[in-house]
Amino acid sequence: MKCARCKMQLKRDLRDGERVDACEQCQCFLIRVTRLKRIRARGLRSPEQLMEDWREHTEIDVTPEVRCPRCRNMMDRRGIEGGNGIPQDSCKKCELMWCDPGELEIHLLAWSNSAKGKEAIQFKKIHESMSGHEKEVLENRIKSLCLGHPSE
Ligand SMILES: [Zn+2]
Ligand SMILES: [Zn+2]
Repeated sequence: MKCARCKMQLKRDLRDGERVDACEQCQCFLIRVTRLKRIRARGLRSPEQLMEDWREHTEIDVTPEVRCPRCRNMMDRRGIEGGNGIPQDSCKKCELMWCDPGELEIHLLAWSNSAKGKEAIQFKKIHESMSGHEKEVLENRIKSLCLGHPSE
């Protein structure tokens, strides 16, 4: 697959421990929605770290809409909830999300600030002080909180 921005060949790479197809030139990448949810659930980076990482990308212009690198249809563009109007492109059919530089960080920040995200984080903290059956019940609850559309 080729980069939706510069048309370079996308290469396999990792973001927060999940496989993505990334462009070495513009640092954009394509990620499966299920993998994004796993990143959300894992919460490897703290909000402070996310802010720091996002600041590295603030000058990049990403205005034009993009086509899905897999099916070539125009991607569905909608605002990230809590993301201050920052748009996110995704392809429902392929279940893929296009991330311009810094967008993953904004997405994760917005998620950690949303009601569902806060609840998930809270459950995680409680989880650390539990054991056995209680943990299992909580894990299922966290999983169900992390499902749903990536921008919800
Ligand atoms: Zn590119
Ligand atoms: Zn597609």
